[in-house]
Amino acid sequence: MTWRDQYSTAMMGSAPSPLTLLTRGEGAYVWDVDGNRYLDFLAGIAVNSLGHGHPALVEAVTKQISSIAHVSNYFATEPQIALAENLRRITGAGERGRVYFGNSGAEAIEAAIKLARRNGQHKKILALTNSFHGRTMGSVSLTGKPALREPFEPLVPGIEHIDTTIEALEAAIGPDVAALVLEPIKGEAGVVDLPEGFLTRARELTAQHGALLILDEIQTGMGRTGSWFAFQQHGIVPDAIAVAKGLAGGVPIGALVTFGDASDLFETGQHGSTFGGNPLATAAGNAVIAEIERAGLIENAVLRGSQIRAAVEGKPLVAEVRGSGLLIGVGLTEPVAQKVATKALELGLIINTPNDSSIRIAPPLIIDETHVAEFTEKFTTALEATA
Ligand SMILES: *Cc1c(COP(=O)(O)O)cnc(C)c1O
Repeated sequence: MTWRDQYSTAMMGSAPSPLTLLTRGEGAYVWDVDGNRYLDFLAGIAVNSLGHGHPALVEAVTKQISSIAHVSNYFATEPQIALAENLRRITGAGERGRVYFGNSGAEAIEAAIKLARRNGQHKKILALTNSFHGRTMGSVSLTGKPALREPFEPLVPGIEHIDTTIEALEAAIGPDVAALVLEPIKGEAGVVDLPEGFLTRARELTAQHGALLILDEIQTGMGRTGSWFAFQQHGIVPDAIAVAKGLAGGVPIGALVTFGDASDLFETGQHGSTFGGNPLATAAGNAVIAEIERAGLIENAVLRGSQIRAAVEGKPLVAEVRGSGLLIGVGLTEPVAQKVATKALELGLIINTPNDSSIRIAPPLIIDETHVAEFTEKFTTALEATA
């Protein structure tokens, strides 16, 4: 039996068929079972912030698993407290900030939904059409893609989706709204930016009506978009943000960070998770934050992001380049994203296609100019071969 046969025999049919079988990684590269090398410009969908096998992450995780890997929520651990303090600092939530730890993006969103209920149990929660917030029942109920939601109805009640326009915001937000949840850049929609002024207006209206503004920074956070969190480029302060993906560089983790009065909404015993905030995952998170700061990886995300953007603009099939820093969406003039990505993979470049006419580029934050040059050459070839 081939690994592909073994995979399809043993694995639940809920995921699409794998592109290949990867056996190892180093820096910005991964290798498959046949020994082919790929430049990884997807990074596990914005997860491997430090690339693969980064010594700082390997050391932190190795040290932690050798000393103490898990305790229950009946006990505190040093890495857990340190990561909560780190998150208060890098989000700017500061003294009034509080952190809840789970194990995934969806769990961070579940915590956000419960937080919203605590702000008005019988009020509505608003989310945006074409948004993505995860696959658990709560997070899929919030997700604005009918194809993901409908097979699982009935869903969590009290959630409404509105269009991503300032007019829709103004029409929807009133005293009957507990929270508005949104992505600062819609990642799964193809890396789509919010309209100019949208986030500022969302902040004004939610504040005016006592609704929480909860940002899903699961994909946009941890330095990827050129600041620790994307909201920091908009001059607003949210009530809560969901963080996951890149936070621990590949070790599963999720977190909900609250700001100001939203930090007082949960009462003792109202939420929790066995693995949430465990010392192994939180030690990894601390190592990722320390390395991003030590190596100036946020500045690097800005620099390499603008280089990639400049290299892609004006190439065949490219209609527009979206996103920020190292979260880049390439809108194509024709629905041939799959063909481009398949060609790129053949050439040894991993990119991704959130939909038929969008390419997503989300490399590790550690890439240098040689990686940008290799990407440019391979991506250009893939575009030219498809056009
Ligand atoms: C990936 C993602 C999620 C879900 O995270 P999981 O870890 O897959 O549960 C939620 N929101 C956004 C914006 C994401 O990119």
